[in-house]
This record gives sequence, structure tokens and C-alpha cells, in this order.
Amino acid sequence: MRLHEYQAKQIFSKYGIRIARGELATSIEEVERIAKELGGRVMLKSQVLVGGRGKAGGIKKAYSVEEAVEKAKEMFGTVIKGHVVEKIYVEEMVEIEREMYAGLTVDRTSKGIAAILSSVGGMDIEEIAAKHPEKIAKVTINPKWGLWDYQLRELLINSEMPKEYWRDVSSILKTLYGIMVHYEAELAEINPLVATPDGLIAADARLNIDDSALFRHRDLEALRDFTEADQTEKVAMEKGLNYVKLDGNIGVLANGAGMAMATMDLIYLEGGKPANFLDIGGGASSEVVRESMNLILTDKNVKTVFINIFGGITRCDDVARGLVEALSDISVPVVIRLAGTNEEEGRKIMREFAKGRKNIYIVETMEEGAKKAVELAR
Ligand code: GDP
Ligand code: MN
Repeated sequence: MRLHEYQAKQIFSKYGIRIARGELATSIEEVERIAKELGGRVMLKSQVLVGGRGKAGGIKKAYSVEEAVEKAKEMFGTVIKGHVVEKIYVEEMVEIEREMYAGLTVDRTSKGIAAILSSVGGMDIEEIAAKHPEKIAKVTINPKWGLWDYQLRELLINSEMPKEYWRDVSSILKTLYGIMVHYEAELAEINPLVATPDGLIAADARLNIDDSALFRHRDLEALRDFTEADQTEKVAMEKGLNYVKLDGNIGVLANGAGMAMATMDLIYLEGGKPANFLDIGGGASSEVVRESMNLILTDKNVKTVFINIFGGITRCDDVARGLVEALSDISVPVVIRLAGTNEEEGRKIMREFAKGRKNIYIVETMEEGAKKAVELAR
């Protein structure tokens, strides 16, 4: 789960990282009031969950309340990298003397947390690395020990950080690490971290929380912005289904993440494109299958659905009865492969069901199923 800049800033600020004064606006009237309160010279920052808003026109400067209102009118409703601007964070403009970068991210290779510091910032980290490789430094933190002082010094020296910022940058990095650990984040980033006449300020903030840890952070769950996430994925999440929308036209329904992945691979191999990833979990009750079918079919690109179920603990005959109930009023072509415990009984029930229905295809192997689904989707 990715937080908005204004949400991440509230958290950073609570932990002691300095931010500029600001407030979220969802209407022109609010922009006007906040800009007035902040003295007129403000930044208008679209709150959309994408990076590089600046370059895409999602960050604007205003030198008066009137200009803020005018620019906010232009900004509300525009589309920044595919996201409609509905919220604008209005922030006091700060005088930037220097832009830097500070970030922490989970590093799977080293099974640690990578800390990255750069004495230049503002552009994205890949660009910094390409343009100023000598001004960027990285160390890996072992989560067992945390961030050592010698690692901080290594970061400061290797990023060619001017000495005048050492103290403040060190304290910010330590705080950021504390936030990262407390919230079980995947990414905590300040870009740019800016030097102003009154010290260092986080001019931008990013905090991505590990979805699997969210249940331990109920306070954050409330911040989740569903206007951003795909609506179908929202419904799936509420129903406890593991669904990811893709841009192909073959719906996929499988039990187990591995099965779903393998099914998608086979579809690609046969020259088709899956419309989604959907793992319905271990069982396959008629209710779950029906809800899953509804979910898949809300995607208007879907031409056919491939149901690939392996009966382990759930027996194929039980699954088949569930499928019969769930599919009785579905008209799109559906390819079904049932294997595993009691597969013969399961297939018998399905064959019976398929009689007289032109849209139900029973297959024996995954390969056959993928081939059929790709053929039907053409
Ligand atoms: P991003 O493009 O989505 O990463 O958005 P940022 O919040 O990083 O803003 C982009 C750029 O706008 C920053 O790199 C700064 O150069 C500039 N910027 C942001 N806030 C201020 C500010 O208060 N004063 C000034 N002068 N520039 C700012
Ligand atoms: Mn930024």
C-alpha cells in the first residue's frame, strides 16, 4: 500500500522530520483558505499515487492567493500519468538551497534494508545514479542490528555530502529507519530532502507499506485510497480473493497462487493473454466460484474464462457441484480443467452439466485447456 505524500509527511513529521506547513484541499474554496493562511506563496501538489509529478505538471508554484486559486482550477480534474487529480496538498513554499536524496528500501538480495543517500536530489533515483554516480552511496542494514553509526559515516562520505549537513542528515536517516521498521515499510523515501535557510526539510515523502503487514497497522488501513486502486481489485480485496487485473482477454480462475501463475504461463505460451491473475485459495465452494466469475466478468475485455482447479483437500466432485451451481447462468465460453482427488467423479458431473450447453468445455490437461481458451478468445 502506497501512501499519499501528505499522509507520509504527517507520519514523518510525527517522528520529528521537519516538513513545511501545509494542508490538504479537495475544493477551490479550500485551496483559497489554506493559501491565505499560509501567506499566499505556496506549492500546489497534486496527490496522485505516482512519482515524477513535477515533470508531468502535477506540481505548481503560486506567488499569491489569486494565483493559487487560478492554478488549482487548472489542476483539479486533470490527469497526471493516468490518475485524476481530486486532491491538492497546499504547502508553504520553501526556499531551496540544495536538493538531496535519502531513501530506504527492502533489499531482497541481501535480506536487509538498503539505505541510499545522495548529496543531489529532486530527480528520480535512477537518474541520480546515472548522472552523478559519485554523489550517491548505498549501505545494507542488517535488520537484526539496525543502522550503525559507521554506516552513516560511510553514506555521508561516499555521497560527498557537505559537512554542514552531516548532523541533520544523520538524524533524519535514523528517524527514517525507525519509521521503516515501525510501519514495516517496503520503501521510505525523501526526494528531495532540501536544505533551506532554516535547516533541512522533507519536501516530498514516500512511504509504501507491506500489504501483508497491514493488519498490524489498522491506523494506516483507514488511509487507504481506493479511488486510486482499481475498483475490481477493491471488491476482490473485500471478498478475500487474490486478484490482479491484467490487460489480456482470457479470464483465469485457479486455486493456489502457483496454479494461477502456471495457468497464465501456459496461456502466454499458446499465444494468448490473460485478463487477470486470480487465486481463489484452497477450496472452491460455489459461492467463491460465483463471486470470482462475477469479478472476472466485470472486465469487458474478457472473451473466455479458463478455470483450472486442482483438488487436493477439496475433492473434485465437491468442486464440480460448486461449479455447476455457479456457472448455470453464465453465457461466456468457459474452459474447465479439474484434476486431483476424485477427478473422475468431478469430470462426470461436469460432462453431464456441459451437455446441451455450448459454452462449457471440459478438458483433461492444463495444456489442452490453455490451447482451447486461446482459440476461443480469438
Ligand atoms: P515529484 O515530482 O512527484 O517527486 O514531486 P516533488 O514533491 O518531489 O516535487 C518536485 C519538485 O518540485 C522538487 O524536486 C522541487 O524542486 C520542487 N519543489 C517542491 N516543493 C518545493 C518548494 O517548497 N519550493 C520550491 N522552490 N520548490 C519546490
Ligand atoms: Mn519527489
